[in-house]
Amino acid sequence: MMLKKIEHVGIAVNSLEKSIPVFKNLGMKFLGIEEVPSQKVKVAMFEIGDVHVELLEPTSPDSAIGKFLEKRGEGLHHIAFETEDIEGQMREYKTLGFEFIDQEPREGSHDTWIFFLHPRSTNSVLTEICSHKK
Ligand code: ZN
Repeated sequence: MMLKKIEHVGIAVNSLEKSIPVFKNLGMKFLGIEEVPSQKVKVAMFEIGDVHVELLEPTSPDSAIGKFLEKRGEGLHHIAFETEDIEGQMREYKTLGFEFIDQEPREGSHDTWIFFLHPRSTNSVLTEICSHKK
């Protein structure tokens, strides 16, 4: 099953306030900030063509992004690929032996279903698969 495209790239940052101007200066269109309390994260969305860049600032040090920053510092956090069929994609990855962080698709932001593959099985690149709700 072929993936459709890169949907977004997630970048872990210590401070949205400091980083938003940097990415604006790079020439990306700023769309706004969304807080995702379930993930303890604030997300600044940018648009480049039909691809997004998400800056991720933790709202708590015990969040996934907080732990990532403590361990690895700021930088590329994950790549998200879009699929037409999230259930089918997950089934296929299971048969191919990929390791999962999410055992079932869950709700992401902006009306999406998402799941993460474990970086152990994807050359240390945290990989998100997402599909837009129909
Ligand atoms: Zn993401």
